[in-house]
Amino acid sequence: MVLTGGTLIDGTGAPPLPDAVVVVRGDRIVEVGRAGDVEVPLSATVIDVHGATILPGVINAHVHSVYRESSLEAWAHEGVTTVRDLCGPAQYALVHSLALNPRLARVVASGPFITVPNGYPIVPWGSTNAVSVSGPEQARVAANQLIDQGADIIKIALESGADFGRPIPTLSLQEAAAVVEAAHGRGIPVSAHVTTSPDLPRALDAGVDDIAHMVVDYPSSELLARVVRQGVVWVPTLELWRVVGYGHEPRAVSNLRRFVEAGGTVALGTDFDGYDAPFQLGMPIIEMELMQQAGMSPMQIIVAATRNAALVSNRLGDLGTVEVGKIADIVVVSGDPLRDIHALADVRLVLHSGVVIRSDGFD
Ligand SMILES: [Zn+2]
Repeated sequence: MVLTGGTLIDGTGAPPLPDAVVVVRGDRIVEVGRAGDVEVPLSATVIDVHGATILPGVINAHVHSVYRESSLEAWAHEGVTTVRDLCGPAQYALVHSLALNPRLARVVASGPFITVPNGYPIVPWGSTNAVSVSGPEQARVAANQLIDQGADIIKIALESGADFGRPIPTLSLQEAAAVVEAAHGRGIPVSAHVTTSPDLPRALDAGVDDIAHMVVDYPSSELLARVVRQGVVWVPTLELWRVVGYGHEPRAVSNLRRFVEAGGTVALGTDFDGYDAPFQLGMPIIEMELMQQAGMSPMQIIVAATRNAALVSNRLGDLGTVEVGKIADIVVVSGDPLRDIHALADVRLVLHSGVVIRSDGFD
């Protein structure tokens, strides 16, 4: 299958390529280039997407409650071809079997949190999606057991309760570091739930890979610089901070602005259904609008929603960009999202694992 005539934004941050040709064979992208430079196989099905923009499938790197086919179908239909679920039951076999259907968004799942007895999210939510550990040895064992069961990523709670107005026991540095060491030893990244700055140095000392929420107090510039220096990716979940209604949205937006100005790496995630509030299902346009308020350019937002979200999903090897060798998760939208990010909501065509799952007017 060949897409021709559209402008390609490949997700790497490279300038857009006009009059692009993308050749897909099976579930893979096999050639990418400018018309005239790429040979179009005679037997190919050619889809002319002139006047539209070709992008990688979008990835929402912080969601919950995805073990519902209806949600996964809604995401895929709107071009969100992968989601990263950061707290749920340890039903990895189910998650990975759902992913075989290209009409459903692919799921990268952490399963339960690793936390301490009476730690977050047991307190304050009463969540049962948590494994409690006491001491580094138990922490190591818990990480290994989740990975044995099929965890794609490990989620830890570093939440001492400042944002909840009550002290909450939390993982020590030694326990958090033991989780990270065990996970990294098996090629699995670790995402840390952090909501306020005092819990951030422990996440950085432990060596986590990404921070799953923007903090909502005022982190020092030195602390932000440390996040940048260590290459830790931030997943801001600005939509969460809007919908919880605690008045955290402006602080979260301004912290993101400071982090981006300091050169930090951002991946898009909303915390869909992480709180009992109406989150946006499908293309995360509200999150993108808030990122824009934080000073991110449309190109930076697209990279955050594709390449960087694949990075924190541990899938940059095969997802997140339109490049040769990657899985053909491709979205075609009307108009130019670099001029107006809302163009991403105007989806015309979705390829998921090389299968056309939506085509509005390109036949
Ligand atoms: Zn969450």
